[in-house]
Amino acid sequence: MAEEPEAGPEMETEEGEEFGSCCTELREAMSGTEFEPLIVVGDDGVLYMSVGLIDIEGEEPGMVDHPVFFCPFCGTELQSREEVRQDGDTVN
Ligand SMILES: [Zn+2]
Repeated sequence: MAEEPEAGPEMETEEGEEFGSCCTELREAMSGTEFEPLIVVGDDGVLYMSVGLIDIEGEEPGMVDHPVFFCPFCGTELQSREEVRQDGDTVN
């Protein structure tokens, strides 16, 4: 119930700019100020989307993130598998 009309400065980084340029839906989903965005740009410059919560015994629930290859809203390719390549993971 914390609904404060915040007009604070948006945290926009130049690196993350490219991922919001395909459509306003994605831009708003990434830069939500009235909610906690589930689509975020990681430290490695890869766009991740939270797909769920995971319960780890003895630890706090954590978010499960997956790289987003295509924009879920407009279908634009945002990044290729090569760009997202994860070490150790077998990617078919
Ligand atoms: Zn889009």
